[in-house]
Amino acid sequence: MDYKKQRILVTGGTGLVGTAIKNVATFFPNMEFIYISSKNADLRYEKEIRAIINVNFPIHGIIHLAANVGGLYKNMEQPVQMLEDNLIMNTNILKIAHEMNIQNVLCFLSTCIFPDSPPQFPITTDMLHYGPPHPSNEGYAYAKRMLEVQCRAYQKQYNRRYFCVVPTNIYGPGDNYNIQNAHVIPALIHKCYIANKKNDEPFIIYGDGTARRQFIYSDDIAMITLWAFNEYINIEKPLIMCPPNSEVCIIDIVQNIARAMNFRGKVIYDNSKSNGQQKKTADTTDIENLDLNIPWTSLELGITKAVESFIYDYESNTARV
Ligand code: NAP
Repeated sequence: MDYKKQRILVTGGTGLVGTAIKNVATFFPNMEFIYISSKNADLRYEKEIRAIINVNFPIHGIIHLAANVGGLYKNMEQPVQMLEDNLIMNTNILKIAHEMNIQNVLCFLSTCIFPDSPPQFPITTDMLHYGPPHPSNEGYAYAKRMLEVQCRAYQKQYNRRYFCVVPTNIYGPGDNYNIQNAHVIPALIHKCYIANKKNDEPFIIYGDGTARRQFIYSDDIAMITLWAFNEYINIEKPLIMCPPNSEVCIIDIVQNIARAMNFRGKVIYDNSKSNGQQKKTADTTDIENLDLNIPWTSLELGITKAVESFIYDYESNTARV
């Protein structure tokens, strides 16, 4: 493929997806990436965004990953911050990109912002605004839903190529492994590691393990993101990013983590804790029809790589815990 040379600002560049974009960037030699985190520019403040763009001028496009994100419990405990931080960051990025004549901005939504009771499964992108999200993540969900509306507004009024993609659950090296606010796979990897270190203390899982989820390995999503940034045409329709046939239950995840961690102790499912949404199956037809020929990373391999990198990072005190 022939990509035009372009300089891309990656917000959230130190996060899980930002780290994965670094891993696959060499496959896109005509793109140059500038990775930023909140330490380079706090996106809640317009002047910090203008300053980082000016310092790195010219910027041809933005991959907007940065978000105030977290698992079930962070979402339930901090709805104000999840709503306000994300609304403000997203508004600032699009507004300043437009003001500085940056034509392309790719933004990340999530399948967890879709209606709690969709009219049917699998969920398709046109159902995004069909009903309220799960009450546990209202703040994050409504802010992200507005990002989709904002992108379409810029498309309509200014002909900007501002558009969204919709990943399912992402996991991989460099994830946030803080047990209190991590997503399910990194939180379980960390918990299993602790149980293992404490001479096979029980590995305790919140919920009964039957909730179903679709997962995508971080390097796989990075590849599709860079493809979409260059090639995706149908921009008024956010692209659901998920490998086909990838829905599993939490029990499958737990078994893979225990195997990769060589955990031989007892696994206990704590039924007194919430499962979260029982399922949120997303439609993979659009991505299958694109015929991207992606060698999807299997759950078994992906979890093995995530566990290995977590152990390495944790034991060298560089893990995000
Ligand atoms: P992550 O690992 O939690 O990283 C978040 C990134 O956002 C970090 O680089 C962080 O910088 C940056 N950030 C947070 N607040 C900021 C602020 N005020 N100003 C500037 N930067 C800020 O996130 P991720 O998992 O890579 O997620 C990337 C995107 O995918 C997000 O938009 C998320 O909503 C979406 N998504 C993620 C998942 C998933 O399972 N992980 C699933 C679906 C969608 P610091 O390190 O400096 O704080």
